[in-house]
Order: sequence, then C-alpha cells, then structure tokens
Amino acid sequence: MKVVNHWIGGREYDVVPDRLGDVYDPATGERTAQVAFADPGVVDTAVAVAKDAYQEWRNSSMMQRAKILFAYRDLVEEHLQDIVTAITSEHGKVRSDALGEINKGLEVVEFACGIPHLLKGEFSENVSREVDSYSIRQPLGVVAGITPFNFPAMVPMWMYPVAIACGNSFILKPSEKDPSTANLLAELFGKAGLPGGVFQVVHGDKVAVDSLLRHPDVAAISSVGSTPVARYIYETAASHGKRVQALGGAKNHMVVLPDANMDLAADAAVSAAYGSTGQRCMAISAVVAVGDAGDALLGKVKERVEKLKVGPGGDPDAEMGPLVTAQARDKVASYIETGVTEGADLVIDGRDLKVDGHESGYFIGPCLFDNVTTEMTVYTDEIFGPVLIMVRTETYEEALSIVNANPYGNGTAIFTNDGGAARMFQHDVEVGMVGINVPIPVPMAFFSFGGWKASLFGDSHVHGKEGVHFYTRGKVVTARWPDPSQRGVNLGFPQTN
Ligand code: NAD
Repeated sequence: MKVVNHWIGGREYDVVPDRLGDVYDPATGERTAQVAFADPGVVDTAVAVAKDAYQEWRNSSMMQRAKILFAYRDLVEEHLQDIVTAITSEHGKVRSDALGEINKGLEVVEFACGIPHLLKGEFSENVSREVDSYSIRQPLGVVAGITPFNFPAMVPMWMYPVAIACGNSFILKPSEKDPSTANLLAELFGKAGLPGGVFQVVHGDKVAVDSLLRHPDVAAISSVGSTPVARYIYETAASHGKRVQALGGAKNHMVVLPDANMDLAADAAVSAAYGSTGQRCMAISAVVAVGDAGDALLGKVKERVEKLKVGPGGDPDAEMGPLVTAQARDKVASYIETGVTEGADLVIDGRDLKVDGHESGYFIGPCLFDNVTTEMTVYTDEIFGPVLIMVRTETYEEALSIVNANPYGNGTAIFTNDGGAARMFQHDVEVGMVGINVPIPVPMAFFSFGGWKASLFGDSHVHGKEGVHFYTRGKVVTARWPDPSQRGVNLGFPQTN
C-alpha cells in the first residue's frame, strides 16, 4: 500500500512511522493509500530544518524570491492534470472543480510574485532636523498552516506563497483525508528552485497540530477548518505566544428579494449550494426568500436540482461527486432525517441515490428543504453537504436580522434589482464577504479572504495586503548622521525641532 509520507528538507521523509491513517477514494469506497501521522519528534525535526532554512531565506533578495515564484507558477500550470487527479481521487470532487481550485490558488502565487512592490516601506525625511525615519517589514521566522480537506490545493495556497514570499519558512499540516496534493505542491516548489526546508509538509492528526501549536520555534499559525477546531487552535496557539489567524465554519445565506431575476437567482442558488457536493466554506446553504420570492423561486430551484448529474469525480459528465468519507455521508443523511422529524418540508430527498458501478462510493443526491425555521437543526448546524434549505420571511428587515443573528459570518449574498436595497444590505450585514447578485463572493487574491464572528478567530484575513501584514512584523528606524560638532549630553526627553 502506498504511504504518503512527510516532505522534509526538500524530499520525502524516509522513515515510515508507526502511526498511519487510511486514505480512501470516495467514489469507490476503496482504501487507496495510507498517510504518515507525525509524532512530536517529526514535528521537531521539521521545525529545526525550517529554522535553519529561514536563516538563508530571510536574506535572499526579493527579486530572487519573485523569480522562484514565477517558475513555480509555470510548473504548477504544467502539472495541472496531475494535481487535479490527486484531488479528485482523494477528495472526490469533479475534475473541473479541482481545476478551478488550483487556478484560484495560482492567483495567490501570482499576487505573491509582486512581493518587491508589496513589501515597500515608507520613508520620511527630516522628521526632526537632519533625522530621517523609515518603516520596514520583516518576516516572522518559521510559520505553519493547518488546512481542511475541502480545498487540498487552494487553501494551503492562500497561505504559503505569501508567507514564503515575505521571507518565512512554512510548514504545512494538510488534512489527513486527502494528503497527496500537498506533497505534489511541495515537490514542484523545490523544482522551481525553492531551497529545501523553506516549504515542508508534515502529515498527521491532532498530535501533529498540537506539537506545532506549542512549539517554541513556530512564530505564527494560519488555520482553516471547522469552528470548534478553529477556536481551539486560536486559543492554544495564542496562549503559546503565537500570532494566529484561524478561519472557521460557515452557514452562508442568500437573501432573495421579490424583485430579483428569479432565473438568475435559481441558477445561482443551485450552483452555489451543490457545487463540490456542498463541501465549500462559501457554499450557499440557506436561501432566505422574502415575500413572494419563495414561491417564485422554489419551482425553479427544484427543476434545476432534478437535472443535476451525480457521479464519480473522474466522469466528465458528472456535475457533483461523492462526499469525502462514509462518516460525512452518514452525518448528512442523519441531518435529513432530523429535518423531517423537526417539521421542515423535504422537497427533494437524495438519500436513496445509487450510482451504477459505484455502489460503495460515498454518494448522496442533492436534497432540498422548504419552510425551515431558524430553530431547526438543519438551520442551526453547518451540514457541509448537498443540502439547501429555504427560510421564508415577510420583509427584508426580517431577512437581514436572520443573517445577522446567525453565529457564523463567512459569506452572504443578496439577489435583487434594487441598487438601494443592495447597498443597504452591504452596509448593514455582519458578514465578512458579501455578494450582490454573486452567490459565492470569494475575493480575488489581491483582496483578502475571511469571515466575521465564529467564521474567523484572529484579526487578519488571508492573502492580499492582510496576508502580507500577517506574515511580517513592522520595524521603524530613526536615523541621524550628525556632525561630530553637534555632540553634547542632554537628559531631556527628545524634542523635535
Ligand atoms: P476540521 O476542522 O475537521 O479539520 C481541519 C484541520 O484541523 C485538519 O488539518 C485536521 O487534521 C485538523 N484537526 C481536526 N481536528 C482537530 C483537533 N481536534 N485538534 C487539532 N487539529 C484538528 O475541518 P475539515 O472537516 O477538514 O474541513 C471542513 C471545515 O472547514 C468546514 O467547517 C468548513 O466550513 C471549514 N472551512 C472553512 C473555510 C473558511 O474559509 N472559513 C474554508 C474551508 C473550509
């Protein structure tokens, strides 16, 4: 059985550990590989190698870093299909979706290629007579990223290109459910000329994460995952003196006003709810239909959902693949049962779906609930599967207060033809990423990505300027080149003159 091992010092680690996890093909249910689970000793080794590599890397010129990032970008493009295969075979998503996430990650690499511009400081001449002041930003040292299963390429790429461009060395602890992509990405970075030890991968579970969170030589932690894990990572890493950004779970609402174009809104709701089998942190999971919008929308959504083609990710005709694990599939099925018991109307039930030739795959068909209330479990919980719920309200104000009362605040969208209403929503909604007639408002790499409330712990979003800020610390230099004749002891507090 293939073992996906750690990537340390520019190569695959040569010791196979005692603790291993199983990796499955979600489309067949077959075990296809095992993944190494790091113990604290392996984490110590990776951190020591990263610390050594950092000493050289922090002194490399920004132009050299940019050159390596440009080469990396080209190599990832050249190997797109290999990376797509790795993602689809372990995550289960359809190939076009896997390609989409790599391209989104590449945007961040392209952004990081501009590091010479992004790290420009400020200079003020004569802040006092013949005294100049300037600010510089410097890397932190060894930084680490802990990432979820749902975007095995894109989410790590939100972090490491920026961290490395800023002069840090980076250790990635990817999800143990789909670990192969991380090694491929690390190998290609080495081929692009990145010194071994600047980007490493340590695989594993909570043991590996805990070692990173407590390690005295790790300066900062970026993490993305479910809210309980994000909260734990934030609190543990912060109590160990680290800078932390921990992105959590989501429940994204799409508010549809009665004046919206209902065909456009139905297309958007279906695409955003069922793409990647609902396993996206920016998936729309709740439509909040205002007034007549509910009746107008329901039939159109239903019509579209019934046409969706579910199948293995490798099938070019499939639009939606399986869930990532058998446990994930069973959890989604149990939410459907609870929704029915709690009184929501199950308009489409995907639980009995069978995919020919893939009877052991972790499939569940798209599910649609109507007349959901905010007390029901299918509303309060992040289901993270192909389940769209519709909540109905009388007014816009009621819809807004539902969105704002929700503990999550990752993404949201409003569908309307009324510019004034859209502007009001954009101003009043307590959510980090807002779409206006755009269902999944994922910011481009040159903006920053992040939610509010229980969707993010810490104060920095990822990539964009906030990413550069997160992975660097500021220093302000005050300089004077005095004429020796100006000497003299003066115990007074420095005055500007
Ligand atoms: P998860 O929380 O189970 O795991 C995330 C990472 O944390 C993995 O690397 C995992 O190994 C590690 N981990 C798991 N349990 C841990 C524990 N008890 N202690 C320490 N580390 C632990 O998340 P997942 O199931 O892989 O991913 C899905 C979740 O991620 C969803 O909740 C989704 O909304 C969220 N997500 C959020 C964003 C965002 O931008 N906010 C993006 C993608 C995914």
